[in-house]
Amino acid sequence: MSVDHYNSEPLILIVEDEAEIAEIIEVYLRQDGFKTLHAGDGQKGMQFFTKQKPDLVILDIRLPGQNGLDILQSIRAQGTTPVIMLTALTDDVNKLLGLRLGADDYITKPFNPSELVARVRAVLRRTIVSVQSPTSNTQVGRLSIDHNAYVASWMDDNGKNEVLPLTLTEFRILAFMARHPKRCFSRYELIEACLPESDALDRVVDSHLSKLRRKLQDAGCEGFIETVRRVGYRLWPEH
Ligand code: CA
Repeated sequence: MSVDHYNSEPLILIVEDEAEIAEIIEVYLRQDGFKTLHAGDGQKGMQFFTKQKPDLVILDIRLPGQNGLDILQSIRAQGTTPVIMLTALTDDVNKLLGLRLGADDYITKPFNPSELVARVRAVLRRTIVSVQSPTSNTQVGRLSIDHNAYVASWMDDNGKNEVLPLTLTEFRILAFMARHPKRCFSRYELIEACLPESDALDRVVDSHLSKLRRKLQDAGCEGFIETVRRVGYRLWPEH
């Protein structure tokens, strides 16, 4: 995912006064290849922010001293670094949305740390996509993806490229997975990345994937997309 777009691991700043929560977040992010930095209050958070220039900030709203909304404002005054807010109360969410301060996402406590990590990736991916000039081609085994033309093709045994007749969503899913072959993607990640506007359910992903498989099969490619039980899907080019 987005981690690979950086020269080194992206640095995530966590501004959270509850040490236990911060620690859990750090553990999960590090497992996933991110670097982390923790500040226990807003003042320290802003110091780290200015000095270390993190790639993304996870920011608790309820902090001692300056609250998270103030910090968000200070961060926004300095640029467009993505911010994910942590909120404990619906009231905070309303405030956050009402202020339109430009948080990139928010997550309510208690939350599943894996989901937070997925959100971090999704936000970074969106940010990177919007600043990078669109990249051209990805090649995974016999599959080639032209990201600009929205064309995916499969090379047959005779070396001839056959264009796969994909829908836009199927193309997005395949193109997204092709950037990281062999990595397993959860259905949640696929929804976040490829169906961001919809409230798609897991089974919607399954249905897109099964159509995608059938189309690959028709082009002569069996087993390219693997199901990883209880996790999700991955591309396995060595078929
Ligand atoms: Ca707090």
